[in-house]
Amino acid sequence: MIIFKNIIKEYNNGVKALNNINLHISKGEFVFVVGSSGAGKSTLIKLLLKEVEPTSGKLFFNKKDITKVKNRKVPIIRRKIGVVFQDFRLLPNKTVYENVAFAKEIIGASAKEIRRQVPIVLSMVGLSKKANSYPNQLSGGEKQRVSIARAIVNNPTVLIADEPTGNLDPETAGDIMDLIMQINRRGTTVIMATHAKDIVDSMQRRVIALSKGKVVRDDQRGVYDHEV
Ligand code: ADP
Repeated sequence: MIIFKNIIKEYNNGVKALNNINLHISKGEFVFVVGSSGAGKSTLIKLLLKEVEPTSGKLFFNKKDITKVKNRKVPIIRRKIGVVFQDFRLLPNKTVYENVAFAKEIIGASAKEIRRQVPIVLSMVGLSKKANSYPNQLSGGEKQRVSIARAIVNNPTVLIADEPTGNLDPETAGDIMDLIMQINRRGTTVIMATHAKDIVDSMQRRVIALSKGKVVRDDQRGVYDHEV
């Protein structure tokens, strides 16, 4: 479903953030992407979202080489990819309901679809009772649940989570991981960049390790770090 073929990304300042990446991620997989700061994790994610373009190589998403996709068609790709960030990125002046509804409004969903689907995802993430709260009235875990609801409300085929537990205490992080796993079990491919060694080690999922822009390890049932 996602294939990186000889992907090189060199930024304008000459930094080679990704140096010949070859990866194959199947539909429905759950993949951790690990590596120290500067290893190239964010660049990998930005390529998928077409926020940056590779210097060379091909990147297939659903059989289409998205490096060839015209700018005006980028929203069609982004619609199929939900994203969750460490810092939540909620709109502070909108309620929980409105934050999630907004993700549907921008793709032109009808009022009827919004009224039907937003309560369903809010219930799925356990936030039905907080629908009318504002982000500053929520705990970190609740904020991340809103951001997950927003990421999945348009039924993406892929959920990208960039350090989703980075701002959460271990217990809340565990709850958020349960939710992400639940989404994965429903068939959504999940790509999660993280530094959370405990989580990676406990889940025994595929681990792709990056170092200095290269894939240095790709284990089907991996751990965070071999050296410890
Ligand atoms: P990670 O997410 O693993 O911390 P990044 O993909 O952010 O890694 O960065 C990989 C390398 O690319 C680093 O050396 C970083 O400094 C560099 N880099 C990232 N973004 C840019 C940019 N916009 N311009 C120049 N260099 C960048």
